[in-house]
Parts: sequence; structure tokens; C-alpha cells
Amino acid sequence: MSDVTEDPTGTDDVERERAPKTEGARAVKLLERMQLDPVTQEPRPRGHAISLASASTDGSQLTPGIAELTDAEGNPLDRGKLTREQKQAISAASLRAPKPPWLKIKLPGGGRYAETAAIVRENNLVTICEEGHCPNMGECWGKGTATFQILGDTCTRACRYCNVKTGIPGTEPDPLEPGKLANAIHKMGISHAVVTSVDRDELPDRGATQFAKTIHAIRRRSPGTSIEVLVPDFMGLEEEGLRIVMDARPDVYAHNTETVPRLYRRIRPKGDYQRAMWCLQRAKEMSRELEFAEPVLTKTGLIAGMGETIAELKEVLVDLRERGVDVVTIGQYLRPSERHLPVDRYVTPEEFDDLAEYGMSLGFGSVFAGPLVRSSYKAEEQRRAAQDPTLGKMLSEPPRAPAESLATIGEVPEWKA
Ligand code: SF4
Repeated sequence: MSDVTEDPTGTDDVERERAPKTEGARAVKLLERMQLDPVTQEPRPRGHAISLASASTDGSQLTPGIAELTDAEGNPLDRGKLTREQKQAISAASLRAPKPPWLKIKLPGGGRYAETAAIVRENNLVTICEEGHCPNMGECWGKGTATFQILGDTCTRACRYCNVKTGIPGTEPDPLEPGKLANAIHKMGISHAVVTSVDRDELPDRGATQFAKTIHAIRRRSPGTSIEVLVPDFMGLEEEGLRIVMDARPDVYAHNTETVPRLYRRIRPKGDYQRAMWCLQRAKEMSRELEFAEPVLTKTGLIAGMGETIAELKEVLVDLRERGVDVVTIGQYLRPSERHLPVDRYVTPEEFDDLAEYGMSLGFGSVFAGPLVRSSYKAEEQRRAAQDPTLGKMLSEPPRAPAESLATIGEVPEWKA
């Protein structure tokens, strides 16, 4: 007994030593995925990189912009007429192509990064930040925020752009999960908690009850924390699932639209554009029916660069505004791996600005559009902007951090949601 009490720091020191090593190993792994040198954090020489030009198989030239495909005379190539081999070559090359200069991220580490990581690990929590290889982890975790993913790490859908593991989870929801998450959020001192999940189409309630339990647990543990839930469409149980979540009274209800209707069948085969619209409209109606003191904000996210046009994105914005959606985010698609949908093109910061301006002209509370904007990026600021329209304009700008704290993405750790 006395040995333990007299030398309590001995064990702690071992633990302290172990923790940085584990986190150090994770950081090195992340840097490797980003193709950055773990020592210098500079982009690695691309000895093995396939240039887009060399990926061409018939003498045609493929420019580094990915979207621009030209033949030997410089005329645009019709993508529909490419051979299977050409498509595969382009697909492989696009994964290694240099990213445009405006895609810059803060490197992981610094600020509260280690503390956030320790709390996530200690509580065995899953975050979409990690599952989705989100490029904003350095910034968000450094500020002590994260987006938590409940109901496990396996999704019953298989969207072509998403990095989350797919399959049949085969486990029941963890009854301790809501409490564990509420404790972690309390410990981190998070003032606006964002909770999402994988799709659980095999569960009788599609996972809706776990969301409600999580909202209640967070509310009990941290009464002053606002709660945002980014939920699935509860396919086949839409009304009931939504009701279970809304009865728990989140501050923000979010359901991501992700893409334009034309691309749903190809890249989001189990999703349905009209169902997404229905969810967003019905959430707003329910919020009114339930007569909460403050209305629940509704929010959605779109991904650009997957083959849609700017005009199509603007049409979606019109649809969303007609359904009373308050907050919209729009960000650039980044390809997680060669198994995933290739990037169609990199939307420019100016085009994102244009989309944000157009959205704000339609009357949204906040439209946050930029290359690295994600649904949960600066979620608290998005909420505040929707409540105070004078902040909306400021938020519409892409995230801009001081240049010295940023690294060019190169081969980015890419993202899901
Ligand atoms: S943007 Fe969202 S998912 Fe990405 S690191 Fe930040 S909190 Fe996590």
C-alpha cells in the first residue's frame, strides 16, 4: 500500500511518457499520409508521383488542373469518350496531382491538440475528424474542439466520396456511450457540441434513440453547452426518427444534402435528394409544432468538386431556402483514396465567394463557403451568424489563417462530411 502511495508519480510518469509517444506516432502517421516529411514537415520529394501528363496513354496531355483534359492538339477531351484505361490512369494520377495553392492547412499539434487527443483516446471516442481524415484537425483540435461520431465506426451506406468504413456493424448501440461522450464534452469545456453518427439502417430505430439519449446526457452534464446534431435521414422511419431527435430539443438540426440531385444515383446510391429535402423541411415544421422557446436552427452541407456545376449548386441553394434552412456550408471535395470518387475539379476561392454571396442574397442566416469549409467547421460561429445576420457576411469568407501557421496541403489527409 505504502509503495503505491509513496511513489504515485512513478506510474504517472510512465503514463505521461507513453502518451506523447502514442500521439507522436499518430502525428508521424498523419504527416506520412500527407506526404510531408515527419522531421522537416516539408512536402516530400515526389520521386514516385505520377504526373497527370504521363498518365495519358494516347499522346494526349492532361493538365494539372484535373478538370482540364486536352488532346495532342490542345483541344478539350470529352470525358465520356475516354477508354477505361485512360479513366483509370487519370484516376490514379489525380490522387497524386499537386493541390492548388489555396488549399492550406494548419499542421496537427500545438495549442490544445494533445489534450483533445488524450480525452478522445481515454474515453474510446470516435470522431469524424479522424474517421474522415479532416484537413482541419490541426486547427480544430488545437482549439479544443472536435466532432464526435456515435453509433460506432461502420456505416451501412457506401457513398463513393466517403472515407468512413462500410458494412453491417453487427453491434447494438453502446448504452454507456451517451454518458461517456457527455463527460468528455464537459471535461473539454466545449461550449457548442457537434455530434454526428454513421448511418445505422439495420437498427429498428435507425439510431435515433441514441441521438436523443446523447442530447439529454450532454444537457444534464453541461447545461450551458449548445448542441448540434448532424443526423442521417433515418430511411424508412423518417418521421418517427426525426420526432425522437427533435423531442430531445437540439439547438441545431443538421442533415447534409452533400451533392446535386443529378449525381445522387451515381455517388450517393442509397441516398435520395428529395428525402434530404423532406427531412430539412420537416425538421423546421416540427420545431414550430413543438413550440420551443427558441426555434431549432436547421442546417445542411454541400460538397463541391464532384462533377456538379456552379449553376446546379445554386439551384440546390434555392431548394434549401424554400424549405426554410437557416445555415449552409459548402466545401471542396478531397479524395480519400484511389478507391474513392476522383476529384472532378478544384473550385476556386472566388467561386466559393460567389456561392456564399448568392446564398446570402436568398436570405439564409449564414452561408459558409470555402475550400476547407466542412459542416462542423467553426460550427459555433455558424450558429451565431445565423442568429445575428450582421455576422453572416464575415463568415461567408473562406477560412484564412496567418500564412506562417499553414502548410500547403500537398497530398492531403482527406475528408468525408
Ligand atoms: S472541421 Fe469538423 S470534422 Fe474537421 S476537424 Fe474540425 S470539428 Fe473535426
